[in-house]
Amino acid sequence: MNYNAPHRHAVIELSQSAVVHNLKVIKENTHAKEIMAVLKANAFSHGLPEMASLSITAGATRFGMAMLDEALILRDLGYIQPIDVLGLTDPRYARLAAERNITLAFSTKESIKAAAEQLAGTGLTLKVSLPVDTGLNRIGFKSREDLVAAIQEVSAQDTLIFQSMWTHFATADTPNVDYVDFQISEWQRLTHDLPVEPNEKHFANTGIATWYPEKINTDIVRLGIGLFGINGSVPIMSMPFELIPALSLKAKVVNSKPLKKGDAVGYGAEYHAPNDGYLITIPIGHSDGYPFNGSGMRALVADGQIGHIVGGVAMDQSMIFVTNPVAVGTTVTLIGRVGDQSITMQDLAEHTQSSIVALMNDFAPRLQRIIVS
Ligand SMILES: *Cc1c(COP(=O)(O)O)cnc(C)c1O
Repeated sequence: MNYNAPHRHAVIELSQSAVVHNLKVIKENTHAKEIMAVLKANAFSHGLPEMASLSITAGATRFGMAMLDEALILRDLGYIQPIDVLGLTDPRYARLAAERNITLAFSTKESIKAAAEQLAGTGLTLKVSLPVDTGLNRIGFKSREDLVAAIQEVSAQDTLIFQSMWTHFATADTPNVDYVDFQISEWQRLTHDLPVEPNEKHFANTGIATWYPEKINTDIVRLGIGLFGINGSVPIMSMPFELIPALSLKAKVVNSKPLKKGDAVGYGAEYHAPNDGYLITIPIGHSDGYPFNGSGMRALVADGQIGHIVGGVAMDQSMIFVTNPVAVGTTVTLIGRVGDQSITMQDLAEHTQSSIVALMNDFAPRLQRIIVS
């Protein structure tokens, strides 16, 4: 089912120049040879087809996805670049992954064996990656003995290719340098002098690529949030370079009318106009991913006015109080830049006291995605 709504004037605009810029500055900061665009969860809700296209245009050479199903969508879209599934996959799908040339991660010797069994007699080969758990304690090998046994198992199977070994950092976007160092020492302890080396190793997410690029090899950067131009650090750390948000959220006014001082607006009739003015309605609500508690947020009207969301954000519509009349069809920007004014996802996260990553992951499929220059 395609839940896109192209007949409504409510859009996410994705800026090509922003994505090109973000990838370029990360590449320069790390001297990376390759950027893996991590486009999991519908490209952090930005829209997978659009972000895949923008990433390749910007110079990414490969993709990272959370699960096999997401990788299959990219293949169905026609992308032939390497794709890493970064989560664990049931080995019963090894054949499907091999057929579509998708790299799967395994974290036990048993699952590797089971994957090889699925491939026996098919003539197919599967690229295997082995995540190493150096301290995130999420997935991966935690013991050197298990890792060596797994590597031997992969090497013994002629249907499997030992493609990569990698780890993921817990504090890369925090000031906790000690824990970064601890994970690096764990990596060295677990992976020194292995019987067989993989074709490649990768370590860096946006955080490592931004704040700790000199700490560990960053030939391949698994670039997620930074590609979208968002500083996701908690607490917010200053960037050594500028990122540009790729996403703007815009809608066109569908209703416009004068409002008298004291008039109530929205469900519950709790908001009352503080003075005479105008009320405009836009077709974006909390089921589009705009925050439920977004009342009070600024909205940038194309005529230069700065309005405010009032009366609560409804499911599909929101109302904005402005001083001067606004014509139906006028564009309103909820996230993005108009002239010298801007509203960032960080502004929205602060106003609604939520996390910027949660906010950016909330944009609904029904918002139309448009690529702009
Ligand atoms: C999500 C993810 C990334 C991307 O991380 P960002 O911090 O968004 O750049 C990289 N590697 C793995 C294993 C991931 O799960």
